[in-house]
Amino acid sequence: MISKNNIIERFISYVIIDTQSDPDSNKTPSTEKQWNLANKLAVELKKIGMEEVEIDENAYIMATLSANVAHDVPVIGFVSHFDTSPDFTGTNVKPQIIENYDGKDIVLNKEQDIILSPDYFDDLLQYKGQTLITTDGTTLLGADDKAGITEIVTAMEYLINNPQILHGKIRIGFTPDEEIGRGAHKFDVKKFGAAWAYTMDGSQIGELEYENFNAAEAVVKIKGKIVHPGYAKDKMINSMYIAQDFINSLPRLETPEHTDGRQGFFHLTDIKGDVEETILKYIIRDHDKDHFEARKEMISNLAQEINSQHEREVINIEIKDQYYNMREKIEPVMHIVDIAEEAMKQLNITPHIKSIRGGTDGSQLSFMGLPCPNIFAGGHNFHGRYEYVPVESMQRATEVIIKIAELTSEKHK
Ligand SMILES: [Zn+2]
Repeated sequence: MISKNNIIERFISYVIIDTQSDPDSNKTPSTEKQWNLANKLAVELKKIGMEEVEIDENAYIMATLSANVAHDVPVIGFVSHFDTSPDFTGTNVKPQIIENYDGKDIVLNKEQDIILSPDYFDDLLQYKGQTLITTDGTTLLGADDKAGITEIVTAMEYLINNPQILHGKIRIGFTPDEEIGRGAHKFDVKKFGAAWAYTMDGSQIGELEYENFNAAEAVVKIKGKIVHPGYAKDKMINSMYIAQDFINSLPRLETPEHTDGRQGFFHLTDIKGDVEETILKYIIRDHDKDHFEARKEMISNLAQEINSQHEREVINIEIKDQYYNMREKIEPVMHIVDIAEEAMKQLNITPHIKSIRGGTDGSQLSFMGLPCPNIFAGGHNFHGRYEYVPVESMQRATEVIIKIAELTSEKHK
């Protein structure tokens, strides 16, 4: 059995180290402080007996656990990220341990009256009787994705201490800067050398994902014409009114607040404007490649249509693809999802296969040549003060890693 105390101790030793990333930095890692955990991890990996432990100049960590079987087994990998989200502070994380959770409100912070309540977060109720780790209400927790790191390190340690469990060669990879979309950017897929891998970066127990959004961003620049308002008749063009028309012409119900599951959307993220110029920023998301292309076409056609109503071009639109649905890279190697699913079933965990409404490092890695579905790490309410993780879910995720290693070896006998 995976020791609960071992998991708690390890997880807490990671989350008390501030590793918030910064989208405004162009260095890797984006913040110096990420080294504090990266260096600690490299030392720890050597200590538990991992081989080829390497930390490169960008703080990417890789390590190997050699095969303990003679037959050929494909090399598999496990990946997670050690940075935390820029959305909420990760300075001075003071984790609280709630043992034998009773299903009632959890007072995170008495002074500031911050309460984690199942009335609002009903997911909590499925963890009655379990051990929860929460914040003190003033920071995020960082279970995203230090839970993933805890699980991978603990699984490797377990395999090293239990050589009767047979497995092929395993590679592990820890990255900085996932939360600012750059976790995979400097990941050396060739050096990693795995046939496929799993990111341990999903949320609740059972999650298994191999589909994510196709994503693009659009910057819409609208040019007006400023004239003294007293003499503006038939001369002034107010870019803000054109912007208003533009916004209203896109389907109002195809927005994040009105969609879920596999429904795509246009999301207006920013407006800055005056009479002379208004800039709208959108993100465009859709799981379906054809729908995704159609959305991009719709938004640029709309710009053209409005332009044709004016004597000169008033709207300039720039659309840039950000990432793609990994499904097309996973489908040809579906057995890698099947193994994860089977591992969960053998452990009596009900797999929840769903599509991610976002992107993952795994989707980028999949397009870089390392097919990489995503597995639950156990946490909830990421990127904020209500983040929590049940220790039992981290235990189970650790078991899933071990089981996947075992099954991969068995299937290639
Ligand atoms: Zn994450």
